[in-house]
This record gives sequence, structure tokens and C-alpha cells, in this order.
Amino acid sequence: MASVPSWVPIALTAFLAACIGIFLHRLWYVVRLLRTGKAREKRWDHFSERIDALIVLGFLQRKVYRSLPVGVLHSFIFWAFVLLGTSVVEITAQGYARGWQLPVPLALNGPLYFAQELVAVLAIVGIGMALYRRYVVRPKKLMHEGFLDATIVLMFILGIVTTILLYNAADIGLRGSGASPEWKPFSSALLSVSIARLDPALWWWVFWAAHVALLFSFLAYILYSKHSHILFALFNAFWVNMEPKGAIKPIDLEKTETFGVHRVEQLSLRQLLDGFACTECGRCTDNCPANATGKPLDPMRIITNMRDTLLEQGPAILAGKTDGLPDMFQTVHSEEGIWACTTCYACVYECPVMIEHVPKIIDMRRHMVLTEGKMPPEAMETMRKIEQNYNPWGIGWDQRGKWAEGMGIPTLAEDGHDAEYLFWVGCAGSFDERNRKVTQAFARLLQKAGVKFAVLGAEEKCTGDPARRIGNEYLFQMLAKMNVETLDKHGVKKIVTACPHCFNTLKNEYPQFGGNYEVIHHSQLLAELIDGGRLKPANPVAKTVTHHDSCYLGRYNDIYDEPRHVLEVLPQIKTVEMGRCRDKGFCCGAGGARMWMEETVGEKVNHRRLSHIMETGADIVATACPYCLIMMDDAAKTKNVDAQLERADIAELLERTL
Ligand code: SF4
Ligand code: SF4
Repeated sequence: MASVPSWVPIALTAFLAACIGIFLHRLWYVVRLLRTGKAREKRWDHFSERIDALIVLGFLQRKVYRSLPVGVLHSFIFWAFVLLGTSVVEITAQGYARGWQLPVPLALNGPLYFAQELVAVLAIVGIGMALYRRYVVRPKKLMHEGFLDATIVLMFILGIVTTILLYNAADIGLRGSGASPEWKPFSSALLSVSIARLDPALWWWVFWAAHVALLFSFLAYILYSKHSHILFALFNAFWVNMEPKGAIKPIDLEKTETFGVHRVEQLSLRQLLDGFACTECGRCTDNCPANATGKPLDPMRIITNMRDTLLEQGPAILAGKTDGLPDMFQTVHSEEGIWACTTCYACVYECPVMIEHVPKIIDMRRHMVLTEGKMPPEAMETMRKIEQNYNPWGIGWDQRGKWAEGMGIPTLAEDGHDAEYLFWVGCAGSFDERNRKVTQAFARLLQKAGVKFAVLGAEEKCTGDPARRIGNEYLFQMLAKMNVETLDKHGVKKIVTACPHCFNTLKNEYPQFGGNYEVIHHSQLLAELIDGGRLKPANPVAKTVTHHDSCYLGRYNDIYDEPRHVLEVLPQIKTVEMGRCRDKGFCCGAGGARMWMEETVGEKVNHRRLSHIMETGADIVATACPYCLIMMDDAAKTKNVDAQLERADIAELLERTL
């Protein structure tokens, strides 16, 4: 075999040094920018679970497969990169020592060559599919300004894997059986059909040089492109959120001087990292109910604009000269868009690289509310009602237990000392006329099943869910502390509630204030009572029912089966699912305190959800959340399907059969 001309190692070394230098220079700059993040987060705990997350979410990319075709396409390209890493080393080394091979045991050499060939071909297939998607299918979520960058990256990868096969073909032409052609079927085929007539010695050098040039140019380019996610998504997987999904990070109100964020460097390192991990796949925006109904909210933009702002303002941030720079409401997202979020969690849930949009939205709301005193006027009015009467309806706080009059339900303060469960009724269940009926139905079911329970009556206060999600952490913490004090005073251990928002706050957020209780949702208790034979559905329902998943029960707390179980045991019932159900469920539009804000832009979220329900042809939409019930009720009345579609909580349907 010919030796390497003396100028080749010099030129190769200079080229590699330049490309690696550009890569490291950019990496160092990005790391310095990430380190400007001022907020602190605990992301080194649960170390062994984090290693698991790195493997499952980072390397095995479990979340990418939520969209199966895209997952398969992506896996072809990803695994090609991993496996071709071995061939890349060997090929690059030829510029220093012709014929050098990786010190792989002889028996593994052949299978390794074959695997490299196979993944190279699969990668070409994957790139073909990706280009078809972008240029022929053209899904809206991919039609953004990152389109060109994505195409450049795909062409780089295509060039890299193609030149491997061409290089192998020339190598076989040059070395014959010494190049193990029996393990390189695709390269052998290429040799026979295309380059057999060419001079292999010349083409060996051409393809070698092309491969090395493409590979290291790509390395130099990668951190300037959206493909920085190849590196940063792994860190995102390791530093994945290990707290309960539904728990918003508290603010230490005593020690904090600025509340919320309006400048990118006020975010945490992990939050800033999201920008560089984003693949710009658009899944978050594609699943956002606010975006789908025409609101000016685009979760992907929050992430990519945050990254671009950090890069643009980076020199000033690093120099500590940020006075006068535009803030996040000018460069990252509009205030209007931030208010449009229902905190449904679909964006976070769908993101393949564990990006956390909701905490950033809440942090921006906190800045508007706590630092600037800004919020939509109707939300301001709701906060006032909560402050005065401890409920967003503004009805006198002493009326909270009125729904229970004449039902013989004890209160913990008077005669409920032997209760097994505290029934946490919540504001909707106590004050909203429609939901009072649900509350009464559930209480009657508990009585029928012989469950010992009591309520707090007028001692119960709003959990603070709407206040926290609107950004009013002061009010939330005040309510949380008062409620924890009341619950602890009565020695409460077990709580059941029919409201997923109360459920989420009591279960996942009150531990932040020392309130640790066993909290279950009414769907879970009802399913248990049915299975235990304490509630025996007998009368037929004989209707078609579809279940609407509450975001705070489903995506935030993984409860999908129990409400369905309660429905499925009802005699003669027929259940049908909507296209968007379970963890793909579409929000009703009420979460994130949107229930108390006007919805004046675009289609109403609950109207869109109603259209999903009507497509099923169901007679009844079943809910397991008072907010969802209110929203579905409102949509059915506004859209004139009041008589056609019944709206009912699962407890009401169950009671009907007893
Ligand atoms: S939480 Fe829901 S509404 Fe808010 S940005 Fe994400 S997907 Fe959109
Ligand atoms: S934030 Fe996640 S889901 Fe949204 S575009 Fe980026 S990678 Fe895709």
C-alpha cells in the first residue's frame, strides 16, 4: 500500500486543529453564557435516577418515539453517528498512517464493518425521509426560519455517510480482499456499479479527503446550528426534572429581591441549556391548545428566542452591561402570549429533549405580577376575590359548606373526628352551582359505600392553584400556609378530592410548606370502592360516553385509567375515545388561571375541544374535573348542542346506576 505523502499529515493536522479549535471556542462561549444563569436549581440529587434518565431519555431517546415515524427516522441517523464514530477514527487516521486499523479483536472486525455499512445505508434512508418530510409533506411545525439550517445539517450528514461508502468502495478496489469486501456489501455494490472503471488510487484520496473535510467542517459548524442538541440534549436528560411534574418551584419570599424573570440571565443554567438542546422539531407548538386556537403563544419560540437573545446579548451580559437592553417581553415572547398559556403541560410532555416551557412562562408571569403589578383586569379581580373570601367566585367564605346542608356530613371542627378521609371540596365544588351537584353526588356515594369522611366547611380555603399559576406567589403561599395549618391542626392524614387542581396542589405543592398528606382523587377512590364491592352499579346507562382527560389529573399526575374504569363498569355503557385522549389530551382551556381571564383572540379552546367530542358521536362527555365540566358546559351551551350532548362528572354517572 502506498505511503502517505509528507504534506498530508501537516495539512490534515492544520485542518483538524482549525475545526476542533472553532468547536471548542464556541463551546467555551456557550458554557460561559450558560453560567451567567443566576437562578439556582437542585439538579445533582437522585444521582442514580439521573444516570438512568441519561441512558433512557438521552441515549435511547425514548421520548423521540412518541411520534413513531419521526422516531424511526431519527434513530437511523442517531445510531449511524454512534456506530460510524468507530469508522471515522479509522478513516481519519489514514492521513497519518495508511492501513492503520482500530485495535478491534480480529473476530469482531467483519461484523463491525457490516454494522457500519448497514447504519450508513439506514442513515441515508432516514435523511431521505427527513428531506421528503421537509420538502414534500411540509408540516407547518417545521416551516420556520430554522428550515435552512436543518437542510444544511441533513446535507452534511448525507455527505458524511455517503463518502464513507464511496471511500470503502475505493478501498476495496485498491486493496481487494484485504479490505474485507465480504463484510461491506453496499460498498462492494457501489464499486461494481459506479466507480469500478475509475482509478481507485485517485478516488481513494478524493473520497478520503471529502469525508474528512465534511466531517470536521460539520464539527466546526455544529454548535452554530440547531444540531447543538446532539451534545446539549444529553445534559438536559441528565438534569431532567426529578420533582413532581405538577409542582411549581417556590420563591423564597423573605430572601429574594427580584421576583420572576424578565431578563434571560435571571433564568437558571438548566433553563438556559434548554435553548441549546432544542431540536426545533415544533412538537411543543404543534400540541399547544393556545397556539392551535390562534393565540399569540408559541412555546417553541419561547425556547429558541431565549437562546437567540442569550447569544445576541451575550457579550453585554458577560461584561455586566445589560442596562438598556431589551427585556424578554421584547425579545422572547409577548406578554399577551404568556397570558394565553393554560399550563396544560402538553409542550413539556411532548418535547423529545426534556425542555421545560411551563416554569419559564410562570417565571415571566411572576415578573409581571409581582414586580410590575400587571395582569389582565379580570384576573386582578379574581385575585381580589380570593384575598377577601378565599375563593375565585367571590362568594362569602362562610357559605363554603352550604352545599352539604341537610346531608348529615360532619365537619372536622365539630363531629368528624373519626373520619378516615377529609373530603377536600375545593372552590368550584363548593361555589359553582353545577359543580355543587357533583360534590353532592360524590358525598352520597361515599355515604352509600360506608366511607367515614368529613369536610372542613368554612375552614377550607382556596388551595391557591390559580394564584400560583397566574404568578401571584405571595397570595399562593399565604393560602398554602393557612391551609396546611388548618389540616395539621385537625391531624389530617388522608384527603380525597374531586378537583384535579386541588389534588395536584395538595399532593405535589403543599409538601413545600410542610404539608404531607396521602391525597387521592375521587376517581381513584370510586374505582377502589367499585372493585371492593362497596358500590355496585346495577341500572343501565345505555349511552355512548367519551371521557375528557383533565391535564392536571392526566399529564401532571398520570391518572388516566381510574376515571375510565369507573365508566366501563357501568351497565350497558358504550365508551368511545377521542383522537386526542389520555396523555395526548387537549386542554379544556381553564388551567393556568385561564378560567378567570377573557379569551378574546382566536377560537375558544373549549369550543375546539367540543368539536373533538362531537366527532365521536357520544351522547355524554364524562369529566373528572370541575374546571373541565364548567368549560364543556359553557361550550355546549354556546354552540347550541346543549340538548344533544350531556355533560356529567363520573360520580354523577355512577350514582345514576345505583
Ligand atoms: S402549557 Fe399548554 S398552553 Fe402553555 S405553552 Fe405549553 S402547550 Fe401551550
Ligand atoms: S422545545 Fe422541544 S418540542 Fe419544542 S421545538 Fe424544541 S425540541 Fe421540539
